[in-house]
Amino acid sequence: MKKPLTIAIDGYASSGKSTLAKDLAAKLGYIFIDSGAMYRAIALFAMEQDLVHEGQPKTTELIERLSTIDLAFQRHPETNSLTLTLNGEDISQKIRSKAVSALVSSIALIAEVRTKLVELQRAIGEKGGVVMDGRDIGTVVFPKAEIKIFVTANLSVRASRRQKELVSKELSTGLEEVQQNLEHRDLIDTTRENSPLKQAEGALLLDTTNHTRESQLEAVMKFIENHSTC
Ligand code: C5P
Repeated sequence: MKKPLTIAIDGYASSGKSTLAKDLAAKLGYIFIDSGAMYRAIALFAMEQDLVHEGQPKTTELIERLSTIDLAFQRHPETNSLTLTLNGEDISQKIRSKAVSALVSSIALIAEVRTKLVELQRAIGEKGGVVMDGRDIGTVVFPKAEIKIFVTANLSVRASRRQKELVSKELSTGLEEVQQNLEHRDLIDTTRENSPLKQAEGALLLDTTNHTRESQLEAVMKFIENHSTC
């Protein structure tokens, strides 16, 4: 049997990374890990523990409390999908709120937060057979991943996709507000010093603007097949 691969997917907010990652994981029988959910979990923790002041994290206090945060992915017995828990609580819904989206990129600037989460991500993915999506997966978390993909899409397409997703989760938000949040996060994520979002060396650049869910999966499967026959 072939060694299971590590597949690293990075890209802009709402570019279609998670959909692609989920589809690939299902196709290959791998696990899917949404690393953005982990940063969102820390943002939620900060909000719930009163560690936010005027829209910014109280960095020193948050760092002091990091060791009390237990993040884990629990497998759902029927669907086989993974849900993220924060100190035992299923937070998969709460982390999609507008307030979490507004705070998360400032949380992701904190070096100690990144160190904790990167360690956890590496522990989960060390044996391969994983598709992980985020901002620094191909550059920092798994620089030796066999397959790297960098996903992009037109901003207005990304905003309308995200808005639809929020509406489907009954978290209805105006299109303009959604677009502003994506732009705000992309700016912080691409310009930060620590692990900025950028295309990793050797990554396939995939623009999903005009792709369907099926056609993007097909394009990436071809890339993976070519890699495997190299
Ligand atoms: O993937 P998602 O959009 O949910 O990620 C939320 C935020 O978490 C990103 O905008 C980014 O600030 C941060 N993030 C990160 N590194 C990752 C994944 C997410 O900095 N690997």
